[in-house]
Amino acid sequence: PFQTAEDVLAYISEADIQIVDFKVIDMKGRWHHLSIPSERFGPSVLTSGIGFDGSSYGFLTVEKSDMVFIPDLSTAFVDPFTDEKTLVFLANIFRLKDGQRLRFEDDPRFLAEKAETYLKAQGICDRALFGPEFEFYVLNHISYRTDTHHMEVRIDADQADWNTGDTTYRNLGAKVPPHGGYHVDLPMDSSYNFRSNTVRLLETHGVPVKYHHSENGGPGQVEIEVEFATLREMADRTMKLKYLLKNNAHLFGLTTTFMPKPFWNEAGSGMHIHMHFFDGDRPLFFDPDGYSQLSDTALYAIGGILKHAAALMPFTNPSTNSYKRLVPGYEAPVSICYGTANRSAVIRIPGYATEPHNKRFELRSPDATSNPYLAFTAMLMAAIDGIENKIDPVAAGFGPFDVNLYKLPEEERGKVKGLPATLLEACQALEADKDFLMKGGVFSEVLIRNQIERLTKEHYQISALPHPEEFRLYYEL
Ligand code: GLN
Ligand code: MG
Ligand code: MG
Ligand code: MG
Repeated sequence: PFQTAEDVLAYISEADIQIVDFKVIDMKGRWHHLSIPSERFGPSVLTSGIGFDGSSYGFLTVEKSDMVFIPDLSTAFVDPFTDEKTLVFLANIFRLKDGQRLRFEDDPRFLAEKAETYLKAQGICDRALFGPEFEFYVLNHISYRTDTHHMEVRIDADQADWNTGDTTYRNLGAKVPPHGGYHVDLPMDSSYNFRSNTVRLLETHGVPVKYHHSENGGPGQVEIEVEFATLREMADRTMKLKYLLKNNAHLFGLTTTFMPKPFWNEAGSGMHIHMHFFDGDRPLFFDPDGYSQLSDTALYAIGGILKHAAALMPFTNPSTNSYKRLVPGYEAPVSICYGTANRSAVIRIPGYATEPHNKRFELRSPDATSNPYLAFTAMLMAAIDGIENKIDPVAAGFGPFDVNLYKLPEEERGKVKGLPATLLEACQALEADKDFLMKGGVFSEVLIRNQIERLTKEHYQISALPHPEEFRLYYEL
């Protein structure tokens, strides 16, 4: 970690860095980047910053789109994939006002920092720790490989499957081979070498990993769980994990997707988010006498998150595809409730986490199409709201339910509120319930409005498309 431009310059010459690269997050949660020859790096990069067009990132309007970014020196890493030795920095976004550079209020990294500050300022505790789980599919890179059992991905839809009526795995030309599964061993765990290699890269690039394994979605679905970190740090690590994973896949002739439901009739990919709070060394979520050994603080946090579960979704599940994952039968949540070891509930309390320092819960609805800064921040804001308003999840009717909700009779399940079924419903829920996000100036009204507008548009863009399956249902009517 560098402190000053001089430190960076010394490293540039010592490590023979050729290029300095800056990664800037956009609204959708993608990195953009810009690179300079190392000779151009100097103190002015830290004071004046580098100008860019913010409107192309989904920020601001075109009329006042001039922004600058300034690297955060604490985020440096050497890119393992580039030919010319490249030093990477994540950057913060600033806007210009009367010649001044002001932190841009809707920069996702800044939102994360504002929420961390707000948590402290409210006197709740000094930090929230986040632990996301990353599920994704590993696919073959376009052409079919006979030496592996990864999915075959073709560019054109498969006419043969269409004609024979084999609809099982039909999905825009992707085909799924017939094995895989939860924790399966070699040789069926066909992406093991790729994953292990990636996990070594993560370890040496500041993303400590808890474990990785094959998941139960057909062949090809896998998972990486990482060690916990504070909010903004964890969002930075999430971006880095995706970058290292996707680039490494490229080297292996593979591709990965975090799409929540890439294949019909196969498990979707979630990004469950574990959370717990600490004040110094003291864990705030543990109480030996509480439900599932949870403290009141933890239960109120659960109450807040469940109360705002639907409104969170434009930030935790911001794609039309997200809602195809949230259906019964695939260990994805469908009902707004909580329970111990219950994988059909939105919030699950891991039954095996019994130590005070380990006591936590997981939010199971999110997926990795989200911008991690916004998703983690929104979740924290809902938890804070629950704690401040002492939202008791029992009194609010959220459970606890320690039964499989998929198997409940319809009328019983009907008593538990369901998650929004579409991106449009999620946007409507946010429109009706956004004040908790704006407390402490964390989310701005503009950001929320832009998100709702963009996602509503996306909803209609997709729902207007005639679906191939509609031909089967309606063609001959
Ligand atoms: N894939 C499931 C989901 O969509 C989770 C499965 C699991 O981790 N047990 O959330
Ligand atoms: Mg897991
Ligand atoms: Mg899993
Ligand atoms: Mg989980």
